[in-house]
Amino acid sequence: MPKITHHYEGCIGCGSCEALCPEYWKMDYEKGKADLIGASKDPITGDEELEVKEVAPCNREAADVCPVQVIKIIE
Ligand code: SF4
Repeated sequence: MPKITHHYEGCIGCGSCEALCPEYWKMDYEKGKADLIGASKDPITGDEELEVKEVAPCNREAADVCPVQVIKIIE
């Protein structure tokens, strides 16, 4: 199954992923980071990983526009 990953530490909280793909991404304004909804989270690094049946087109767009390239799609 494909996976979407989010390198949490590197996220600068720009909000583009949430704007493009709100069903998968939600901003945490207190932390200044985005969260990948429903993802498992590494307790130490905060990195997030979500297995999906199919990669939604908006996740590809989010990965493309992320200014720090912390969203990866692994297929
Ligand atoms: S687009 Fe990238 S930097 Fe911006 S909030 Fe989303 S994951 Fe973080």
